[in-house]
Amino acid sequence: MSDAPDRRIFPYVSAVIALGGVSAAWLLLKTPVPYGEFVSPVILIFTLCSIVGEAVPLKVFRGNMEGELSTSTTFAVATMLWAGPAVAFLALAGANIVADVLRGKPLHRIAFNMGQYAISLLVSGAALSLTTSLPHEHGVGSFMPADLPGVLLAGVTFWFVNVALVATVIAMVQGLGILRYLVHEWLFQASTAGLLLCGLGPVLVVVADFSLPAVILLFLPLYAIHRGSRHAIAKEHQALHDALTGLPNRLLFRDRVDQAIIAGQRTGEIAAVMLMDLDHFKEINDTLGHHHGDRLLEEVAQRLRLALRESDTVARLGGDEFGVLLPRVDGPEAATEVANDLLGRLREPFVVDDLTLEVDASIGVACFPDHGTHTETLIQRADIAMYTAKSSSGGSMLFEAAQDRHSPRRLALAGELRSAIHDGQIVLYFQPKADLQTGRVVGVEALARWDHPRFGVVNPAEFVPIAEQTGLIGPLTSCVLDKALAQLRVWSESRDDLTVAVNLSARSFLDTQLAVEIPALLERHGVAPARLELELTESMLMQDPQRAEVTLERLKNIGVTLAVDDFGTGYSSLANLRRLPVDVIKIDKSFVIDMATSPSDAAIVSATVGLAHSLGLRVVAEGVESDEVWRRLAELGCDIAQGFHVSRPLPADDLAPLLERNSLGARARLSAVS
Ligand code: C2E
Ligand code: MG
Ligand code: MG
Repeated sequence: MSDAPDRRIFPYVSAVIALGGVSAAWLLLKTPVPYGEFVSPVILIFTLCSIVGEAVPLKVFRGNMEGELSTSTTFAVATMLWAGPAVAFLALAGANIVADVLRGKPLHRIAFNMGQYAISLLVSGAALSLTTSLPHEHGVGSFMPADLPGVLLAGVTFWFVNVALVATVIAMVQGLGILRYLVHEWLFQASTAGLLLCGLGPVLVVVADFSLPAVILLFLPLYAIHRGSRHAIAKEHQALHDALTGLPNRLLFRDRVDQAIIAGQRTGEIAAVMLMDLDHFKEINDTLGHHHGDRLLEEVAQRLRLALRESDTVARLGGDEFGVLLPRVDGPEAATEVANDLLGRLREPFVVDDLTLEVDASIGVACFPDHGTHTETLIQRADIAMYTAKSSSGGSMLFEAAQDRHSPRRLALAGELRSAIHDGQIVLYFQPKADLQTGRVVGVEALARWDHPRFGVVNPAEFVPIAEQTGLIGPLTSCVLDKALAQLRVWSESRDDLTVAVNLSARSFLDTQLAVEIPALLERHGVAPARLELELTESMLMQDPQRAEVTLERLKNIGVTLAVDDFGTGYSSLANLRRLPVDVIKIDKSFVIDMATSPSDAAIVSATVGLAHSLGLRVVAEGVESDEVWRRLAELGCDIAQGFHVSRPLPADDLAPLLERNSLGARARLSAVS
C-alpha cells in the first residue's frame, strides 16, 4: 500500500458519476418506465428489502478478514426482471440514498454509487432485452421458463459490471494492482454475491408472482446464511487470534507477512518483521502464578498495540513470544528504532493487581527484501537475531548474515564438529587465576578452542551454541573435562594445589549423566574432586531454580567446587543464590573492566564482594585488565583475579613457567606476558 493517494482516483470517480448520469438519463428517457409500478406492492416490498439489504449487509469471511455482502443488488435485479431497468434504477437509487444517508456516507460516494448502479443496470437491461422479451411490454410480472438463460445472463452481466466498477476504485484507494484485484474480486464474489444475485433474484420474481407474502419466506434462507457466516466468522476469528490477548496468532501473522511481501514486491517498499521474547517471564509466572502472568501478557499486548500504527501488526506467537510486522518502513535502521522504542515502553514498570512488575525483552529484526524475500526466511532470521540479542546482553538486534545458522560457515562447522571432537581438533587454552593478596596463581580456567584446519582458531562463542543445537554438547563437555583433568594431572607433578575450572553449558548442566561421568573421570586421572571447579551461569540456575537445586546437590555430593560465572549479568540476587550449594561467584567482566573509572561499577563490585563474603562465598573478579583494577580489588578484599592483566588464555605448555613462579614476583612476570 502506498501513502500517496492514486492520482487516477478523482478522474475515475468523476467519469463513473458522469457516465452514470448519462446512463440514468438513457434509462429514464429511452426505455419504458411503468411509473404506476412504484406504488405496486411488489416493487414497494422489493425497494424496502433493498434498503434493508443495503443498510444491514450480511457478514462474510473474505481471506483472513471480515467482509460485507450487500443483498440490495439481488432485489434490484428482481425489480429489473419485474418492471424493467428504469424502475430498478429508481428503486435502487432511492434505497441507496436512504441507506447511505443513514450511514452518513459523503455525497461523492453516494453519487458514485448511483452512477455505478445506473451503468450496471443499463448494460444488464440491454442484455435482458436482447435475449428475452422482458420486461413485458404490456405490463409486469414473472418470466417464462424459456426466458431463463436470458434472465441469468442479465444477472451475470449486472454482477460483472458492478464488481468491476467498485473493485477498480477500491484497488486505487488501497494502492493495489487493479487487474489483479479485479480478478481476485470476481473470483471471490462469484461464489458469494454473484450466486446470491443470479440465483435469488429470479426466484424472488417467481415467488412474488405466485404470492407476495411468500417473499417473506425467502428471508429465512437469507437469515440462515447470515447466522452461518457469523458463526463461521467467529470460528475463523478464534482460529486466527490468541484467546488471551485477542491479538492475531502465528497463522494470521504469517499471512500478514505474506501480504506485506507481495505488496513490497510490487511497490518496492521495505517491510520489517520483529520477533520479541520477554526475558524472565517464566519466573514471574512461576513465582506469582498464572493469573498475574496472564494479566502481564495482556498489558504487554496492549502497550505494544498502542505503540504501533494501525497498519502494523502485533501478534502473540505463543507463550511470552510476540511478533511485530511493519509493512512499510524507511529501512533497517528505522525498524531498529521502532524496536528500541518498543523496548523502552516495555521497560516502564507494569502495575498488575497492585503489584509493580518490571520486564525486559529481546527483539530480533529482519527486513524485506534485505534479509529475505519469503515469509519463512524472514521469520526465521528475526528469530536468529532475537536469540543473538538474548545471548548477548538483551535489547534489540538486526539480523546479520553471520548469525545465520544456515550460513555456509555455520553449516560447515555443524557438519564437522563431531569428527573434530573425535579427532582432537578441540584444544584447551588455560587462563590463570591469581590470589589477589599474594599474586600467586591458584587455579586455571579451561577455555575451549577449535583448531580448525580451514578456518583457523574458532572461538567457543561460535561453536558451543552449535554443539548445543546439534546434540553434541555432551561429547564436547566430556572431551573438555577429560583434557582439563589430564592436564591438571600433568601440572600436579609440581603444583598439587592447583585447581582447574570447566564451563558447563545449560544443556550439559541438566544432563543427569554428568553426575555419573565426573566421578569416573576424576578417578581415571587421579584428581581429588575439590580440585575440579564447575562454572555455571546465573541464567542456567535461575531458569528453573528447583531443578537447578537438585542438580547442584547431586554435583556437590561428588565433592567438586561449584562457581557461578558471569555474576551480575542475569537477574538473580545473592539472596537467590543463598539457598544453592555454590562455593564461588565470578563477578562478570563487564563490571570489573571499568571499575577504576566508573564509580557505579566500583560500587557494584564492592557491594557484591561484601555480600558474597557474608554468605561465605569466595569471589573471583573476571576481566582484570590493569594494575589499577587489581589494586582496587585487593583493597576491597576480593579473593581472586582473572584477566588479561594476569595473563591471556594460553596453551598449556606456554603457561607452565607462570605456574611455577610464586607470589608477587610471579605477578610482575605475568603482567609482562599480557
Ligand atoms: P567465560 O567462562 O566467562 O570465560 C571468560 C572469557 O573472558 C574468555 O573468553 C576469556 O578469554 C575472556 N577474558 C578473560 N580475561 C579477560 C579480560 O581481562 N578482558 C576481556 N575483555 N576478556 C577476558 P572465551 O575464551 O572466548 O570464552 C568465552 C565463553 O565461552 C566463556 O566465558 C565460556 O562461557 C564459554 N566457554 C569457553 N570454553 C567452554 C567450554 O569448554 N564449554 C562451554 N560450555 N563453554 C565454554
Ligand atoms: Mg567461565
Ligand atoms: Mg565469565
